[in-house]
Amino acid sequence: MSALSEVYYRGPGERVLCAVGIDHGRADDAGIAAGLDRARDDGLVVQLYAHVPGRTVAVERLEAVLTGARARGLDWFTYDDLADGVAAAPGVALSFDDAAIDEWWSLVPLLDAHGARVTFFIAYYETFSAEQRQRLRDLAARGHAVAAHSVRHLRAPDYAERHGLAAYVADEVRPGVDALRADGHAPRVFAYPYGARTSELDRYLLEDFALVRSISFSRDPLVVVDPCPE
Ligand SMILES: [Zn+2]
Repeated sequence: MSALSEVYYRGPGERVLCAVGIDHGRADDAGIAAGLDRARDDGLVVQLYAHVPGRTVAVERLEAVLTGARARGLDWFTYDDLADGVAAAPGVALSFDDAAIDEWWSLVPLLDAHGARVTFFIAYYETFSAEQRQRLRDLAARGHAVAAHSVRHLRAPDYAERHGLAAYVADEVRPGVDALRADGHAPRVFAYPYGARTSELDRYLLEDFALVRSISFSRDPLVVVDPCPE
């Protein structure tokens, strides 16, 4: 993971960001530790993402990230911080993608215990119950960021090729953003489902969003890349 230069935020200017997965099978503990080391040593923000605590990523691994960040003196950054164009500093931007609101909610004591502020990239918001929507608002009230991750989690380049860029935004981006806004959120960053993107989509989406986020893949020491730009 330390070799994946594109997953380190270097400060304002880059608007297409890139995270690396820490779900089971996407990274190993040594690779994650090396990523945290590089964030500390190079003064950069390492961008990590996962999905479902206790299912796709062990809670123990998340705990290791939280304690590892603290041990290295790393700060926590949400994607709203990055959208604000904050200067880079030794830090972690941890995000959770899709819709596992109940599992995220159960993580609150652990996040609070470490003073961690994270970002939730929301897809399938229309499936959230009233209670789950309230939980997302409660997470936002605790200082976590809520961002957009499409309506149905389709591959953006495929949809855009078939129906056009405007249709992708009209069908898969705006309704999700509008639904979040209606519940009091202000999503400023969009994460591509599967990280699948094109430069054309970037240009189009960056008219509406401060930043877009894609992903890299790490299976240290082997590195397989990459929907992310160089
Ligand atoms: Zn996703």
